[in-house]
Amino acid sequence: MSAPTPGPDDRRGRAAGPGGIVIVGAGPAGYACALGLAALGVPSTLLDQNTTIAAGSRATGISRRSLELLSSCGVADAVMDVAVVQRANQAFAGDRELFLDWTPREPGRYPRIVNLQQDLFEVMLADALRERQEIDMRWGHRVDDIRASDAGVRLEVETSDGRRSMDADWVVACDGARSAIRRRLGLRLTGVAYDTRFIVVDVHAPIALEQGVRRIWFDPPSNPGGTVIMHQQTRDIWRIDFGISPDEEEAAALGPEAVQARVRAHLELLGVTDAWEIVWSGDYTATSVALERFRDGRVFFAGDAAHLVPIFGGRGLNSAIEDGFNLAWKLAAVVGGGAGPELLDTYSNERVEGARQNSAKAGIGAEVIAARSPGSLLLRRAALELMQGPRPALKTLLGHRTTDANVYARSELIVDPASEDDVSSPGRALPDFLTQAPDGSRQYLSDALDDGFAVLSVGTPPHGLDVPATFMGLPVQQLAIADAAYDDLEPAVTSPLAPGTYVLRPDRYIMARDAGGDGTKLRRLLHSPPFSSTRTQEAAR
Ligand SMILES: Cc1cc2nc3c(=O)[nH]c(=O)nc-3n(C[C@H](O)[C@H](O)[C@H](O)COP(=O)(O)OP(=O)(O)OC[C@H]3O[C@@H](n4cnc5c(N)ncnc54)[C@H](O)[C@@H]3O)c2cc1C
Repeated sequence: MSAPTPGPDDRRGRAAGPGGIVIVGAGPAGYACALGLAALGVPSTLLDQNTTIAAGSRATGISRRSLELLSSCGVADAVMDVAVVQRANQAFAGDRELFLDWTPREPGRYPRIVNLQQDLFEVMLADALRERQEIDMRWGHRVDDIRASDAGVRLEVETSDGRRSMDADWVVACDGARSAIRRRLGLRLTGVAYDTRFIVVDVHAPIALEQGVRRIWFDPPSNPGGTVIMHQQTRDIWRIDFGISPDEEEAAALGPEAVQARVRAHLELLGVTDAWEIVWSGDYTATSVALERFRDGRVFFAGDAAHLVPIFGGRGLNSAIEDGFNLAWKLAAVVGGGAGPELLDTYSNERVEGARQNSAKAGIGAEVIAARSPGSLLLRRAALELMQGPRPALKTLLGHRTTDANVYARSELIVDPASEDDVSSPGRALPDFLTQAPDGSRQYLSDALDDGFAVLSVGTPPHGLDVPATFMGLPVQQLAIADAAYDDLEPAVTSPLAPGTYVLRPDRYIMARDAGGDGTKLRRLLHSPPFSSTRTQEAAR
């Protein structure tokens, strides 16, 4: 790797620190990457073209997995203080109820999904960022051009003081769906675009409905031929998405008066008579597209810059956070010298796989929700018919499971990924649950873990397992919890982790496990880390 070269913008010396990581775009992906790096003590510079956080809710669902990743920086607690927990899913055909499904009780500190306007969420992320001296946040910095070579990356940045050049060793492009960096590098998103357009509105209204229910109407009287999705957010703000019917002319439907009329009709359907006000509106077309690779030499793509998924399963924002944390620890390992740069290819491999899983899961739901073609409309009619009767499983098309974490079954970083549907197998996201330490103290696993790697024993660790202080150059925590089932602590809930010893990654994925063996596999892994920089250098010689 090249030595950091100060660029002309460097008024405070090499602000991005050793490794020179510049993140472009302070949205969920950029914040996550910067916070993930800072948690491991690695500096970064975060640039955003705006001078402040953009107003408007956009995404509204924050997943359990995102909350777990954001727990150590305090964001998860801030979210939980104000967010609305999604407790149920309800669907209607016309104004007739199809089903009301309550989310089952599950182990872990956080609910499956909570609702909070994206702009309020970003304020919390920005607050957390300010606490970290490792992050140099620069608002009002728009990246207009990029030149990347094997030696480093040069960015051309427009600021209120004029145009500057800025050098970096690594650039993370988190600059959103219209990514200028992606376009400058000549890279293209490919995939499927759904035709249906959605009007997305935030309405301030006192609505006396059951709390925390996500509601979806197909062909309701308030939006004939289309769909309506409604989420309760915080501060009496309701998010209403109107899918425009194929027969409507889009330009007219998106006009302010048409939007107002649609909201009025829907609130009347719900029996709202008090005053209400539209506080934000936007429009959206569902797409399922991605880059082929999320790494281009020294430039990485994360969040919407890398992939777009239909929003109906809440995957846009949450996959952006997942990307940020996946990349952060790998960059930290590489700039700290604990791993060679080849490790960074696993970011692309894992997250491309994640984007494919997200598209596959969101795709069928999008066909039903954003149906427009004759084939999709036929599928929707059939699905709705079956949901009411003998095929209740089809409800999952509209359900909460869409926010399940990705599985890295093919990653070269995962030791012996199990193929069976086993939540404690390597390649799965670590499930959270209430644990009991050998001394009897009780704590959620998400609270017990530090920010680096962890070697966790559920039950007795293998004899003579000598855990090093660092692994891939990052700190390793060793912890043990008593045996597996805690029915007395969380009624009807048992520990999802089977007895054994686990190597856990900083992004809370299970990397390896020894289930009742002699520990040889873990010993070998812990003392001979993959992608080791020493091994890389030896191979190069
Ligand atoms: C109307 C609408 C509704 C949505 N609803 C949902 C939903 O219900 N659920 C869901 O999960 N997702 C939803 N999404 C998607 C969700 O908002 C995104 O997936 C999420 O914001 C992606 O985060 P990101 O960090 O990748 O990008 P963004 O949030 O777009 O952030 C990109 C950042 O980069 C900055 N930037 C851009 N270009 C430059 C440049 N050249 N130089 C410097 N800075 C730059 C921007 O100012 C911005 O701050 C919705 C999106 C829209 C538009």
